[in-house]
Amino acid sequence: MTKEKNFSQWYLDTIFKADLIDYGPVKGTIVFKPYAYRIWEKLQIIVDEEIKKLGVQNVYFPIFIPESLLRKEKEHFQGFTPEVAVVTYAGGEELQEKLVVRPTSETIMYPYFAKWIKSYRDLPLLINQWTNVIRWEKRPFPFIRNTEFLWHEGHTAHRDHNESLSFVLKILAMYEKIYQNILGIYGFAGRKSEAEKFAGALATYTYEILLPDGKALQGCTSHDLGQNFSKVFEIRFQDKDKKLKYIWQTSWAITTRALGALIAVHGDDRGLILPPKVSPYQAVIVPIYGKTNKKKIDNFAQEIQKEIPETYFDATSKTPGYKFNFWELRGIPLRIEIGEKEVQTKKLTLYRRDNQQRLSLTQEDLKNNLENIFKEIEENLLKKSKKFTFDHTFSVNSYNEFKKILTTKRGFIKAFWCENKKCEAKIKEETKATTRCLPIQKSRSKIQEVRSKKNKCIYCGRKAKNEWLFAQSY
Ligand SMILES: [Zn+2]
Repeated sequence: MTKEKNFSQWYLDTIFKADLIDYGPVKGTIVFKPYAYRIWEKLQIIVDEEIKKLGVQNVYFPIFIPESLLRKEKEHFQGFTPEVAVVTYAGGEELQEKLVVRPTSETIMYPYFAKWIKSYRDLPLLINQWTNVIRWEKRPFPFIRNTEFLWHEGHTAHRDHNESLSFVLKILAMYEKIYQNILGIYGFAGRKSEAEKFAGALATYTYEILLPDGKALQGCTSHDLGQNFSKVFEIRFQDKDKKLKYIWQTSWAITTRALGALIAVHGDDRGLILPPKVSPYQAVIVPIYGKTNKKKIDNFAQEIQKEIPETYFDATSKTPGYKFNFWELRGIPLRIEIGEKEVQTKKLTLYRRDNQQRLSLTQEDLKNNLENIFKEIEENLLKKSKKFTFDHTFSVNSYNEFKKILTTKRGFIKAFWCENKKCEAKIKEETKATTRCLPIQKSRSKIQEVRSKKNKCIYCGRKAKNEWLFAQSY
């Protein structure tokens, strides 16, 4: 099945052919096989290093949340109730209090924040944990919608809103940088609408990615929690002026969904295409043996392997053709072919998975250019993803145009909306498209300012200040 003709079937076929997962025995759960887990592990290391640079420390909180804690913040409780799993029976008896299996950890962490934070000297508190979470999923889709998924969740506490909001945006910028520079995935960073924000947050920021079928995927979240949780969990500190004040909080996450985005955005009909920094191997050496030269080729291959970090030397007894397919399917960025010719000329034949181009380089040139080649691959992936996103982002001025795009091309739609919840709900009901975000404008052009002064909501015709990003979504 081709990606173009039937994206979801192609996606599932590719995942199984590349040996990434098995389905778990409970619907909506998956087994991460070693190759998939290694991709996640590499992304984890990158994220972990970045947040540690910001001063964040790792912790671990228990998986069970007493229901009474989850109930404390009302919006939060209502938001999560439909998707939580609850333990009522354990240790051979009915439990006196139901235990929620962590859907997110605000409500188990924050009573401890109240205990740990007493003075402005205890702030900021910057913690993170790497865990699994459970959110019951009625229509699962591997990596993208799973009942159990892996993530990290950062939680911070600050003295004032300036500081907490700036942290929220710093995290968003970090995610954006990782998506673009490391994963090669273009998207729009922005703020969620009131209806789409995290239950219990003041505001939610997001990175929205367009998948090949024209549906959006939320790539991460960074929440400005304001003082909503600190007020219900009584988290106060004595400030420099001796007054007791509620702390300002943030929480943020990136999940194994990012693997889904990687597969979906970059893959082609030959299989995965992985960016070098998260690929389990950066390169694979495929030997092409003749009748008598195995030893020579192996020696040369081992020499090359030493020079390139994370290179796999595929010395199995399968044919070169089989190995080419096998590693293309798994998306290894670079293939190095070594046969008699390569040994004789001391020139290597390389094959780039991303653009399917062959190169011929001496051992010395390969060593000197390796970093550049990987950088070019990353840039090429981002360029392709950006082009696809722009080619499928449409500005519309009427509701008819809006609806037409959703029934024909699909993609991101930029449209003015009055920010009234009723219009948003009606649009969702009639078209299945939701507001994805209000993109953060890095350099507001003059044209946009002129346009935005006299614009009207595409649904109700009332005055609209901002052009929002809409799409159907996962
Ligand atoms: Zn309206």
